Amino acid sequence: MSAKPLPRITAETRPYWEGCAAGELRYQWCAACRRAQFYPRVACARCGGRALEWRRSAGRGVVHAVTVVHRAPSAAFRADVPYTIALVDLDEGFRMMANVVGTAPETVAIGDRVRLVFERRGGVALPQFTPEGSAMPGGASLPRLA
Ligand SMILES: [Zn+2]
Repeated sequence: MSAKPLPRITAETRPYWEGCAAGELRYQWCAACRRAQFYPRVACARCGGRALEWRRSAGRGVVHAVTVVHRAPSAAFRADVPYTIALVDLDEGFRMMANVVGTAPETVAIGDRVRLVFERRGGVALPQFTPEGSAMPGGASLPRLA
């Protein structure tokens, strides 16, 4: 069975992935626009400014859109189907795509409140979400990676 893909870590994304390893969801904040940006980039996608700072998200948000994957994109995901992918609007004002775990896929709906959890995969921690009321341990309880 093939392995699941791992993120390719670049100079722009390294602070983000280091945050994940520490149990934090980090996003960029543009000092010029005073807006959150996600995913990490060298410059602000809105104004082109480079005065970007890293901030820590509380990891809570709302499902903006959701889909259930029934056909695995590769053999590595075959055991996971069906699974849920959602666009989540974080409370800090940025949107990201992630899996929603710890619940039956068909129960996830637009407008649901979700919170951050991490999936360990091959030495990295991948941000995922779970329903607010889920008993899954959250990011804060994640032990540090070596
Ligand atoms: Zn900007």
